[in-house]
Amino acid sequence: MGLRESENIRVIVRVRPLDERELRRGEDENISCVRANTVQVAEQNGKGKGQKSVAYQFDRCFGPECTQELLFEECGVLPLLDHVLEGYSSTIFAYGPTGSGKTYTITGTGSVDRILRNGSGDVSDGIVIRSVEALFSKVASRSPLTSSMTCVEIYNESVLDLFKSRDKQHLPVKFDTMRGCFFVQDLSYGKCASEEEILKLYMKALKNRSVAGHELNRDSSRSHALLTLYVDSMEKQEDGIVTRHGKISFVDLAGSERLEYSKSEGSTLKETGAINKSIFTLGKVISSLCDRKRTKVPYRDSKLTQLLMDSLGGTSLTIMLACISPSNTNLSESVRTLEYASRAKNIKNKPVVLLDQQQSMVKELQKEIEALRAENRAL
Ligand code: ADP
Ligand code: MG
Repeated sequence: MGLRESENIRVIVRVRPLDERELRRGEDENISCVRANTVQVAEQNGKGKGQKSVAYQFDRCFGPECTQELLFEECGVLPLLDHVLEGYSSTIFAYGPTGSGKTYTITGTGSVDRILRNGSGDVSDGIVIRSVEALFSKVASRSPLTSSMTCVEIYNESVLDLFKSRDKQHLPVKFDTMRGCFFVQDLSYGKCASEEEILKLYMKALKNRSVAGHELNRDSSRSHALLTLYVDSMEKQEDGIVTRHGKISFVDLAGSERLEYSKSEGSTLKETGAINKSIFTLGKVISSLCDRKRTKVPYRDSKLTQLLMDSLGGTSLTIMLACISPSNTNLSESVRTLEYASRAKNIKNKPVVLLDQQQSMVKELQKEIEALRAENRAL
């Protein structure tokens, strides 16, 4: 590809809607998408001091009103799928604190059983389900597509096979000197020839993930889940059939919240450190890929980046989806997420809009008027 690598990495932000609990508590939305590529954060400067607004720019931003369908169509995953069908690798990962919408974005909210019963087609279907559907419909007119998949969970820097419900051994990660990349030893590959087969296997893996988490008495928000789809597509050409071997990884990262927020102690403390090691290294890998004065890309420093080594950088296309809550109570985590996302692409964000005291007061008064009107209507 003739593109610079930084152009092969898209950084997207998705701000989820306030949830029921946040609405009940009357929490304010302090973060909004003011343009297709700009997120604005309104920070309170302290009582009577007005508000400071900071604008962050990314490749694309999606606000609370964005549906799963719109996100899928506009976040840039479709070109990634074309790239995979051409025989290249791609990665899409969701980053953000627990509760920010990573799993919703990657998988969707439908329960595993509902998807197993009714298949795809729900409005809440996430990127994986929609991508599988799109892959098959893209090739339907051309030629058959065969695929296989792996599903792993990385927990505390060790790798678990999500296709094995009983065998919860941690699998070793080895380096393949011939191919120049890492692989998980003894990992199961699920063969799948149709959209339904892929979904079934994926749901089975998700079920195993929650069972494993339950049995080992831990929370799945502390682990990274990685689904890799190997796609072999064939195309008839004048001089014979050309087979292309592409691959795409979908990564639902562990919550990015900081240690002091998780009130961790003892073993949990170490665990959070290891989780952050993978996330921290992923950030370093992305930013060194985007750096024109390229230094050595630190793929080897964490299990996650070892496994993604051949799908990040080079000819791969990558989407980083930063998920955040709009609520003022999550403000510091959200700002940290936006800063991680900006740093990843070396995007220099500066405060650009400053709301003065008068403007803040007008905003406050408008809110009060709205509340009084609502009270009036209720009488
Ligand atoms: P995470 O995986 O980051 O911990 P989840 O994806 O589980 O967070 O989201 C937390 C909650 O918010 C879930 O109940 C989910 O259904 C809901 N949610 C997240 N994003 C959205 C969205 N864009 N629209 C509607 N509901 C959402
Ligand atoms: Mg989740």
